[in-house]
Amino acid sequence: MKDILPEQTSLWQEVEDTARSVFDSYGYREIRVPVVERTELFRRSIGEATDVVEKEMYTFEDRDGDSLSLRPEATAGVVRAGLTNGFIYNQRQRLWYSGPMFRYEKPQRGRYRQFYQIGAEAFGYPAPQIDAELLFVCARLWDRVGLELRLEINSLGTLQARAEYRAKLVEYLAQHRNELDDDSRRRLKSNPLRILDSKNPEMAELIANAPLITDHLDPVSRSDFNQLKTMLDDAGARYVVNPHLVRGLDYYTGLVFEWLTDDLGAQGAVCAGGRYDNLVAELGGQPTVATGFSIGLDRLVELLAQQGAQGRDLSPEVYLVAVGDEAPRVSMRLAEELRERLTGLRLENDCTGGGFRAQMKRADRSGARLAVLLGDDEFAGQYATVKNLRDDTEQERVSWTELCAYVDRALNGAPA
Ligand code: ATP
Ligand code: MG
Repeated sequence: MKDILPEQTSLWQEVEDTARSVFDSYGYREIRVPVVERTELFRRSIGEATDVVEKEMYTFEDRDGDSLSLRPEATAGVVRAGLTNGFIYNQRQRLWYSGPMFRYEKPQRGRYRQFYQIGAEAFGYPAPQIDAELLFVCARLWDRVGLELRLEINSLGTLQARAEYRAKLVEYLAQHRNELDDDSRRRLKSNPLRILDSKNPEMAELIANAPLITDHLDPVSRSDFNQLKTMLDDAGARYVVNPHLVRGLDYYTGLVFEWLTDDLGAQGAVCAGGRYDNLVAELGGQPTVATGFSIGLDRLVELLAQQGAQGRDLSPEVYLVAVGDEAPRVSMRLAEELRERLTGLRLENDCTGGGFRAQMKRADRSGARLAVLLGDDEFAGQYATVKNLRDDTEQERVSWTELCAYVDRALNGAPA
């Protein structure tokens, strides 16, 4: 688990703000669900045999002996919230969420035990338009933050089609049992599709020759998949069909996708999602179709930082220096007045009561455009000395009553 330090948070905020505005523009509304849920919820949704549930959850008993887990992802919680609050049944919902997720994984670059996701879920939309929309939401976000990511899509078919494919795949893999690595041999029974996802180069050929799920789709999944591709083509979107793309969570059916980069080393998936039409019913609700995605914020921010993005400049515009017996007290009042009248102004008051030179040094280092100086002379004359720290213009005396208007003009130019 890592700390996100003040030098880094402005880039995080920029990404979060941009995501929020993109969601707003598509009519997705925010939902906030708890960080802790009953363990049972994740077992039933994500799936008993998945890595996440098998070995990655932070699970504990609370004082009543109930087994709870820190959420490893948010979809299960959003569905649970939909059932407890009745906002899924017989309705259409477009929702988004963000927050920390927890998985006990081997920590490495791009893989943390507390990480952050922003994601969206749509309930009650059977047609593939909604899947296209979700992909457009992602694409717009990448565009707005200045990223290029690669889109890979696949269809896993209905549960039944997938079961038939799974049998074919197991048959094929069992014939090549000797070529399987330990992990894959273990998965042959529990989660054979995940073997297709193996990163072991020694298994690459075996996987390349395996039967393809795209050749075993049911007619509805095939038609939905083709419609989706057409909508992406219409939009001029670039994508690759990757028939080996499977997801680490059991609840997916039909479309699955990932947005990837080659610039983050081994952990190249920045966003993943797909349809999960069976999950609501599996968790006890009326059958309701659903689809969604989740973005790994840590990876997204790291990628942006790597490209030199720094986020918004949050350094002060005005730095207030006050020296002497009376000036520091007055500086408090003037600072509040400036903030009150110039909404959004970033003003840093030195607040140390230290010497003039030390305060001026801090003013310079702060990145502020203007320093507002108050000393004994200024106090006596009820004015401030305003110094432009970024050019050589003469410093000026400005009376306290004129200060707001002066600062406004200096920072924002003359009013029209
Ligand atoms: P991966 O194949 O990278 O393990 P996953 O299939 O487990 O991903 P999902 O559960 O679909 O991932 O989560 C969606 C996104 O969340 C991932 O694409 C990734 O960007 C991010 N993510 C998942 N686990 C972590 C983690 N431990 N640390 C940082 N980001 C993560
Ligand atoms: Mg994982």
